Amino acid sequence: MIDLRSDTLTLPDQAMLETILGAKLGDDGRTHALERGEDQTVNELEDLAAQITGKEAGVLFPTGTLGNTAAVLAYCQAGDKVLVDEQQHLYISEKVLFDYNFGQLQPVSYPHDENGLPVLEKIEEALKGGNIRLVCIENTHNFTGGACIPLKNMKEIYELAHKYQVPVHMDGARMFNAAIALKVKASEMCRYVDSVMFCISKGLGAPVGSLVCGNQEFILKLREKRKLLGGVMRQAGIIAAPGLYALRNNIERLQEDHEHAKCAAELIQGLKHTHMVGQAVTNILVLDVNELGLTPQEYCRKAEEKGLLIKPVLSDKVRLVFYKGITKEDAAEAARIIRELDKR
Ligand SMILES: *Cc1c(COP(=O)(O)O)cnc(C)c1O
Repeated sequence: MIDLRSDTLTLPDQAMLETILGAKLGDDGRTHALERGEDQTVNELEDLAAQITGKEAGVLFPTGTLGNTAAVLAYCQAGDKVLVDEQQHLYISEKVLFDYNFGQLQPVSYPHDENGLPVLEKIEEALKGGNIRLVCIENTHNFTGGACIPLKNMKEIYELAHKYQVPVHMDGARMFNAAIALKVKASEMCRYVDSVMFCISKGLGAPVGSLVCGNQEFILKLREKRKLLGGVMRQAGIIAAPGLYALRNNIERLQEDHEHAKCAAELIQGLKHTHMVGQAVTNILVLDVNELGLTPQEYCRKAEEKGLLIKPVLSDKVRLVFYKGITKEDAAEAARIIRELDKR
């Protein structure tokens, strides 16, 4: 079985696991100056994250969802309007920020074009409308098939938002996939956002964790929100140690996942009924299977019968994700199964 449901399926290898045994641990919830805890490994990971993103500080979270949630709450209060992409993960999948019983924020959505790029004019329209507290972007963009927002567009969005005194938060769950595909440093991308969340638990291969980075003033508020949400962990160095290993060893290899995705994309080009959403630029392919007269769930079931595990996304699409452990042969075999399913 070829399992392309998600890059969260990556398992830690021996070398990564061994970092846990030697990690210096402490209680990350006992805080000192700048609200930092006593787990040295967590502090080391947070410092490395800050350095990589070019921000003043970073904070470790158990999940990306909690990281995004705390980050947005560091800017907003109940009732505030938050500008989000119409298919943004934190709006469509996470939801908690906009839930009536939880975050109570009001989403205002902006569209993206066929390449997954935010439509600047629409963002400006919304900002002109007033009372927008925060602009959120997602890079890479999950539901459009791993689309990247290039630096030029990020800069335009950032400058526009700041013209209206509105900060920008980036859901960069797969930020390093974007950086690799765009051939830029993560810190160059992060110049054009006020805060960023990225996951170490996806393509980077660590078992658990996400980091949020930003300036010191934001980080202090973020720590407050993390505590409020129950996100403070104790000897979290056992999470941070594999995270450090992931950041030191697994960023460059994301390129391989992109190559495998591209290889599969090329092999399923020009199919009659199965259409790719956007281009194969990073490690995600999203397919529109509407024309086959199947629901995404039915399609995934048929794929599974043929040896390919994939996942339905949105209401009418399916997603393939390439990650460490998936080979070029797997990619070709996945494409073969998709071609077969196209014949009905
Ligand atoms: C996975 C993901 C998240 C959330 O991360 P979790 O660790 O699963 O909570 C947020 N945004 C995007 C775009 C993601 O793909």
